[in-house]
Amino acid sequence: MKIVAPAGGIGGARFLRGLQQAAPDAEITVIGNTGDDISLFGLRVCPDLDTVMYTLGGGINEEQGWGRTGESFTVKEELLAYGVGPGWFGLGDRDFATHIVRTQMLAAGYPLSAVTEALCDRWKPGVRLIPMSDDQVETHVVIDDPDGGRRAVHFQEWWVRLRASVPAESITAIGAEEAKPAPGVLEAIEAADVVLFPPSNPVVSVGTILAVPGIREAFEAKTVVGVSPIIGDAPVRGMADACLTAIGVETSARAVADHYGSGLLNGWLVDEADASVEVPGIEVRSRPLLMSDPDATAAIAGAALDLARELA
Ligand code: GDP
Ligand code: CA
Repeated sequence: MKIVAPAGGIGGARFLRGLQQAAPDAEITVIGNTGDDISLFGLRVCPDLDTVMYTLGGGINEEQGWGRTGESFTVKEELLAYGVGPGWFGLGDRDFATHIVRTQMLAAGYPLSAVTEALCDRWKPGVRLIPMSDDQVETHVVIDDPDGGRRAVHFQEWWVRLRASVPAESITAIGAEEAKPAPGVLEAIEAADVVLFPPSNPVVSVGTILAVPGIREAFEAKTVVGVSPIIGDAPVRGMADACLTAIGVETSARAVADHYGSGLLNGWLVDEADASVEVPGIEVRSRPLLMSDPDATAAIAGAALDLARELA
């Protein structure tokens, strides 16, 4: 069985690990969000790709959900001693090596998809991980800066430095309209038996992937089942509500399904707390959706697969 899933960082990666447990023989292709990518200290950092790679490859800091296990921060401290920041973005020593290899390969002319494949050679995540595009796409957020003035900041500055505490006036994936899907993305979707949307951020993770021309249309031609990242009108983790508010979508399992739309989503898994949710044109099922441990997560992925097979 061939499964394709678009994914952001933490929520996506944890779901994918459950999916591997639920469907050990499946051939899984992950289309990774690159809208969170940022250049820091001259290095290209791809947080969502790395979170998926480290989580599935056994190198993730489990408590944190991002970054490497057994990490130290000597390089970051030394940079700060020179007055070189930003200090708000946590890059550990082990993690730095990944970004150095990536930046070196990009500078040598390799596209991001080839670089990601090379990095995965080491981590062996057990899935094929493809960035949504080899073209640079960066999510920017327009805010009224607490330090003065309305300005557009990189998504990471809003998310990590400001913890989304300042309302977003708008969120834009810069470069998405001109971006082409990376080699293999559309082919994988076309060949998929099942498409699953993990409980990733619907705006800045899945939404950004869908903004690359051709990808939404390719998904629309398939049976797609999504897992709600919203339980009982709040995100389970993180600040997805701030992103939904920025695009005028209510923070509820129903509103997120409605936002994806019945042209895209065929089935939608919601938590038992949202069992009464109905969305015209979309088959809704309720299950416990907290990814509290590997078995609970595998059960969620299994339920999504069952629903997809039923609707196919
Ligand atoms: P990001 O790059 O860190 O934003 O990672 P994702 O976009 O992949 O995941 C963040 C989303 O995952 C948030 O909207 C959370 O609400 C959702 N999420 C995190 N943990 C859980 C969980 O246990 N269950 C469900 N249903 N959603 C979750
Ligand atoms: Ca992300």
